[in-house]
Amino acid sequence: TEYAADKTSQKDTEEDIINAVKRAPVVTIMGHVDHGKTSLLDFIRNENVVAGESGGITQHIGAYEVEINNGKNITFLDTPGHAAFTAMRARGAQITDIVIVIIAADDDVMPQTREAIDHSKAANVAIVIAINKIDTPNANPENIKKSLSEQNILVEEWGGKYQCQEISAKSGKGIDELMEKILLEAEVLELKANRKTEAQGVVLESRLDKGLGAIATVLIRKGTLTKGSAFLCGNQYGKVRAMFDDRGKSVAESVSTSTVEILGFQNIPEAGDSLQVVENAVRAREIGEFRQQELKEKEMSQSTRVSLDDLYAQMESGVLKELRLVLKADAQGSVEVLVDALEKRSTEKVSVKVIHSGVGAVNESDVLLASASDAIVVGFNVRPERTAQNLAEHDQVDLRLYTVIYEVGDEIKQAMVGLLDPTFREKELGRVEVRDTFRVPKFGVIAGSYVQDGTVLRNAQVRLLRDNVVIYEGELDSLRRFKEDVNEVKEGYECG
Ligand code: GDP
Repeated sequence: TEYAADKTSQKDTEEDIINAVKRAPVVTIMGHVDHGKTSLLDFIRNENVVAGESGGITQHIGAYEVEINNGKNITFLDTPGHAAFTAMRARGAQITDIVIVIIAADDDVMPQTREAIDHSKAANVAIVIAINKIDTPNANPENIKKSLSEQNILVEEWGGKYQCQEISAKSGKGIDELMEKILLEAEVLELKANRKTEAQGVVLESRLDKGLGAIATVLIRKGTLTKGSAFLCGNQYGKVRAMFDDRGKSVAESVSTSTVEILGFQNIPEAGDSLQVVENAVRAREIGEFRQQELKEKEMSQSTRVSLDDLYAQMESGVLKELRLVLKADAQGSVEVLVDALEKRSTEKVSVKVIHSGVGAVNESDVLLASASDAIVVGFNVRPERTAQNLAEHDQVDLRLYTVIYEVGDEIKQAMVGLLDPTFREKELGRVEVRDTFRVPKFGVIAGSYVQDGTVLRNAQVRLLRDNVVIYEGELDSLRRFKEDVNEVKEGYECG
């Protein structure tokens, strides 16, 4: 059926284009920890707590809409940070129009600032810079602008295209101006939506309430959602029994780009699922069940993710024009050498692009970015965090780990000409934690260890990691439990 094809097919129809009216921009705030994301969100929310009949923004339902002037509104997503932003994108829901990258004026452009910029660029969303904490004695906004220029973010004042505003999330200074700049950015983006059509939205959060059943908060993207409408939502379906706005008020209808809490789901949908109104409940159920069936079949079939193993096939079929990489390495020096070496591998057919790079372990947000952008994760002399590895397996993101610099470029090159030898893939047997070390005269230093998962084999290759950075690579000399030489030690046991 027409609904079954693709849950993200939210293209505007001809009718939508004719009926389009201006809509509020959807804004996400991102930046380094402690640079003031929460403070800014709180300040904006509190400023808009209007005493009186309409009430203030009482609940946290994933987003809230504020009126800036004469009916010009901005919708703020309530979960700051790029993990939430990219997680939604990985699920096919690109809902943010503008990202505010917030940087503390008494600090500098930090790793998560760079991540925020890279994640926004990869998503192709507009960026507005907010330099925060200008009330502090050590504030040095010029220094921030300089650091930003080194990240290829040139602010307007420096002749670039990025709007920038100095603010204090504490005193509120500059925040009105920041809001004006966001509205200006929205103006340029010509954000519009048709309100006279069946509603479409995206789930921001969902939960199960003991008394009320499955509840989800949904950002309405186009159309008008009315009470009583039957809808499809991801692989779920339902009927709007009741709706509450961000002020906790019961409403009969909701238009783009506001957020409502909806009661009436058959089952809990997932964040990122798209909601679509259909003609009646019978139809909603039919399609919902069809989708659940389809999902089962899809899960059993092969994935179509980018991977080095079938890179050549994907290039040949013309699907792949750009090989995107997320790169993490043990030191800034290696990052620079690798970005250069990798991007040099671009050919006429396929360009190689490092969409994000940084120092340190491969983390969850790296994998999310790769998943959302159909990229491959490359780790050089670093290992993935456990959560990142699980996520990569779940989302089928290709995660490649290297310890020799030329091998990285070589493998990419071979993959591009279809000559990658697939037998050299590494298989992890297990992980142990070194809990103590002690010296034995004849042997040397013994690592008193605990097997956290998997199995240790006596003749296995090992890698010693400290803070997920590779310290040493080699082979085990001997493996013991108490005084006994053993061939293997399983999860949950101690060994030397
Ligand atoms: P987040 O981690 O990015 O959400 O940062 P928070 O909003 O939690 O802010 C971190 C700290 O900086 C808190 O102690 C805030 O009170 C403080 N802070 C945030 N904005 C400002 C500001 O404009 N001026 C000053 N002086 N402190 C601020």
